Amino acid sequence: ESDGQPGTFYARDLEIKVDSPENIKPLPEDLTELSFGKDFSPHVFKVCWSAAKGWGTPKVKPFESLSIHPAAPVIHYGVGCFEGMKAYASESEEGDILLFRPDMNLKRFNFSMSRLSLPAFDEKEFLGCLKRMLQVDKDHVPRAPGYSLYLRPFAAGTTATLGVAPPADCEINVIACPVGPYYAGGLVPIDVLLDEDHVRAFPGGTGQYKVGGNYAPTLQHLQRASKEFDCKQVLYTLPGQEASTLNERYVAECGAMNMFFLLENGASGERELVTPPLDGTILAGVTRDTILQLCGEWDDFKVSERMISVREIEEHASEGNLVEVFGSGTACIIQPIKCLVKDNGARINVRENTGEDKLSDKIYKAITDIQYGRVKHRWSESI
Ligand code: PMP
Repeated sequence: ESDGQPGTFYARDLEIKVDSPENIKPLPEDLTELSFGKDFSPHVFKVCWSAAKGWGTPKVKPFESLSIHPAAPVIHYGVGCFEGMKAYASESEEGDILLFRPDMNLKRFNFSMSRLSLPAFDEKEFLGCLKRMLQVDKDHVPRAPGYSLYLRPFAAGTTATLGVAPPADCEINVIACPVGPYYAGGLVPIDVLLDEDHVRAFPGGTGQYKVGGNYAPTLQHLQRASKEFDCKQVLYTLPGQEASTLNERYVAECGAMNMFFLLENGASGERELVTPPLDGTILAGVTRDTILQLCGEWDDFKVSERMISVREIEEHASEGNLVEVFGSGTACIIQPIKCLVKDNGARINVRENTGEDKLSDKIYKAITDIQYGRVKHRWSESI
């Protein structure tokens, strides 16, 4: 950096303060008592930055509440962003703790921070700190199939001023939650509300960043989807961008999942897996990228990143050629969808399972095999 301030913090500078044993609550004997996002591991990571001094000393310390000035820009102007990733207890003989493609999450974190005028960091150094934090709390990574330690890195602008300006101070924290399997039995398909009225993001906006401002406005839609349509998620769409497509709606993503459609050509029987392209309006999901790469390697059907309109989906559904629809994300890996419900109550039904092997099951197994170390893979990173 030109002003001589450090452009990153370093893992070798990490200071670790371990909590006294009597303060540390072990994982519950009965892991089913864990509920998502409500139980926290005993230690956190924290590093502060200021424009004057650059990055401070990174620390791992006992869990504590934050203390920030009430004028902090994170509170008023949404100068905050976050990540979501998981650490898994390997089922291999080594039994190590594994991270899944952490480089992608940390790169996306830097990307989100830059959009909010927050400082950059070196992703390898951050990963080094994260590994040390996990070593401290390794007994809080639950060792059972489907369980993991969910990591929530977040950044917040903290300067004590109401001025609308790039923050002169910020902090990054990482908190961690032991979590159970998203699905108790097999994958359970859900109904999703297909929203053709609202947008979550728009061209030139912030859809591709994991900033808090993308999520708060979706909560009202989620509430309505649940109350009025008994749907667990909202699928957002966007109008076409050309004069001829302005009246079409194209699929974007759900509030926290990318979307996949497995289509069949009625005449040839050929299949195509379609997901919307990374045009800046949707989040570049780690799971999304993983699915695209795996399916590309399997080479069983065509894989396309392209726009897909509601009309095209409806046409396939009416001919019984909408074979599978699923969402993807770190929390669930795969969320099969059985029906897209429109605002007027019309239902777009996905083809019923005819007993054939499901692509969603195959992908779920392939990804979890890597995450839990049943299959060795370059995407697994041991701590
Ligand atoms: N879209 C949005 C808006 C999300 O918040 C998430 C969750 N991070 C995803 C997609 C899925 O991304 P990933 O596979 O990286 O979890």
